[in-house]
Amino acid sequence: MELSIQSVTKTYKRGQTRALDDFSAVLTPGVYGFLGPNGAGKSTLMNIITGNLRPDSGSILWDGTDTRKMGANFRDLIGYMPQQQGLYDDFTAKRFLWYMAALKKIPRRQAAQRITELLSMVGLTDDASKKLGAYSGGMKQRILIAQALLNDPSLLILDEPTAGLDPKERIRIRNFISKIAQDKIVLFATHVVSDVEYIAKEIILIKRGKLLLKEEPAQILRRM
Ligand code: ADP
Ligand code: ADP
Repeated sequence: MELSIQSVTKTYKRGQTRALDDFSAVLTPGVYGFLGPNGAGKSTLMNIITGNLRPDSGSILWDGTDTRKMGANFRDLIGYMPQQQGLYDDFTAKRFLWYMAALKKIPRRQAAQRITELLSMVGLTDDASKKLGAYSGGMKQRILIAQALLNDPSLLILDEPTAGLDPKERIRIRNFISKIAQDKIVLFATHVVSDVEYIAKEIILIKRGKLLLKEEPAQILRRM
């Protein structure tokens, strides 16, 4: 498995904002910590990889094939956790997962098994019938991660999965992601170094849409 981001550039507002500037990186299985301040271009990059957003130029390749040519075959490989929003607050956790499974066209029998398994994995079995609106921040993040895993993705994209969480919850999410990262390419966006310092194979530093650094955490820490 290999995801290759090739010279991706994206501007907004008729070129006034350069969100990504000739960004290139090749990713293989493992966790990649995407670190950068707010506005660095992390969400834009993730949206371009998922196909939600078109780059001005550049391309995304999966095992050497342009993902635009793969269409649904590529989308089926992705699990995407967007930044937390209040959508679905009236859904119970279980109904939310069923709804997402239907959107992903996962067959009912397979979905039933997977939902039970995922609820247990993220420790929400006992809270599965509660509405998401009543969930704590950490519980919401965990159910959003669970929905991203419904299709057992090869490419897992997590946009600030620890945002707004206390240190204890951060550690839980971090440990969980590290556990499920085998045989997956995981993009973990955050602006907290400790989120990814121990679990990332490499840390990718983004600033003003440019890749500043792509190195093992130990190598980066040695210079700080
Ligand atoms: P990050 O996820 O690292 O915070 P973003 O990708 O959200 O960064 O943003 C990168 C830059 O692009 C920022 O300057 C942001 O203001 C701008 N931007 C993002 N989305 C839009 C949009 N829809 N319209 C205009 N500017 C945008
Ligand atoms: P251990 O490796 O000893 O299971 P963890 O810290 O990974 O320790 O998890 C402790 C318990 O919390 C486990 O039973 C795990 O299934 C559960 N758990 C529930 N939700 C999460 C989550 N989002 N991240 C990590 N563990 C979680």
